[in-house]
Amino acid sequence: MLDYLFTGGQVLDFESNELRSIHLGIQDGKICYLGEEKPAAKEVLELEGKIISPGFVDIHMHEEELAVTGGDYDIALAMLSMGVTTAVGGNCGNNRQSIKEFIDHVDQKGSPVNYMSFVGHNSLRQRVGNNNTKRASTEKEIQQMKALLVEDLKLGAVGLSFGFEYATGATLEEVLALTEPFWGRKTHLLSAHYRYDADRSLEAIEEMVQIAKKTEIPFLISHLSSCSAFGMMEETLTMIRNYIKDEVDLAVDAYPYAAFSTLIGSDVFEDGCLERWGVDYDAIELTEAPYENMRCTKEIFYDARENYPEMIAIAHVMREEDIGIALADPLVMVASDGLYRHHKGHPRGAGTFPRFIGRYLRDQKIMDFVEGMKKITLMPAERLGLENKGRIALGMDADLTIFSQEEIMDQAVFGDGQRPPKGIDYVFLDGVMVLEKGKILRQDKGKFIRKDF
Ligand SMILES: [Zn+2]
Repeated sequence: MLDYLFTGGQVLDFESNELRSIHLGIQDGKICYLGEEKPAAKEVLELEGKIISPGFVDIHMHEEELAVTGGDYDIALAMLSMGVTTAVGGNCGNNRQSIKEFIDHVDQKGSPVNYMSFVGHNSLRQRVGNNNTKRASTEKEIQQMKALLVEDLKLGAVGLSFGFEYATGATLEEVLALTEPFWGRKTHLLSAHYRYDADRSLEAIEEMVQIAKKTEIPFLISHLSSCSAFGMMEETLTMIRNYIKDEVDLAVDAYPYAAFSTLIGSDVFEDGCLERWGVDYDAIELTEAPYENMRCTKEIFYDARENYPEMIAIAHVMREEDIGIALADPLVMVASDGLYRHHKGHPRGAGTFPRFIGRYLRDQKIMDFVEGMKKITLMPAERLGLENKGRIALGMDADLTIFSQEEIMDQAVFGDGQRPPKGIDYVFLDGVMVLEKGKILRQDKGKFIRKDF
């Protein structure tokens, strides 16, 4: 007997590329019935036209810092509330604790969502004692980092992430020496946060292309929207498309907001940044006391950088038009880049997917609805090598997000960055109902998904 039968819903079918009005049954964590009949089930849910989607896969986010949260989940709950069932942390070169600590935590306590993780290059630099972001690593440090990286890959990390803008001293030699243990491996990934944004973003992408070519490891260009949405989006996408035609293995993610966010103390906010973005101090918003929800003045900006460098800042600097162009491009996956500290931060961590569906697919109709849904399900699942996730078919994992196409919309805003979205009716993880009408029922069904190395 089925565990659940969903009747009256519209199933997202990526094979026929349409919404199909059929019934869907799950049992023992798998999708095991699709059709017109109504086989016996322990529970039947009448969905009244709601969309049954594969659970959303967030290929770019930042996991919680367990030392700050006291071991509780924070962003993983926001992820689940917006329909994510698998999330990938460790992006932009940064792990918020070691991979081992994080995996042990998820193994012991379970997690609101399935997790995967990159090993962060900048965190590796810190682990071997290099706290100077502006110098290249020494030969000895590179050998030490390499050993740690291999250890973490053996634990099951998905690959290595770079955050060049936060470690400007990192050289191509360092990158190549470090990645040598997995050159040519198609099962793992490299990802990178740009070295430069705005007027120098194309140059930053050229660097990533070099790395992708030399290492022959599939590469993920991170948060295109935050680095190239300054009037050069078309040009950037054309360039990436041409490299892909030349068989450079590139993929791209972007989030649906015209503001980015990172720590106010980071190198991103070095002198010259405001001129580069064409804005004034008041484009920068701070998130914690004593400047909670305040826009910067020159004095506040420098005081925060000096005295509260770990505080998250939100920079309202990108062009909305470029965001739309990025999201509509067939190359681009949608991912949140969500990041919180003390429950504060950019609303993307709690709103990205409902916002993409509600605002861009439904209201602005930037592209075909079914095609657009692949950007948050099938495309990231394939890039991650998750063969049993990202689409609805017999035998696939029963990670499902069920939502109302008319109602879905983000509710998180700047100043209240974790407000849950509306319109998500149910989330199933591994065949278990973990969210019902916006309420989280279970937060322990997620696992750490390991990659074999
Ligand atoms: Zn980043």
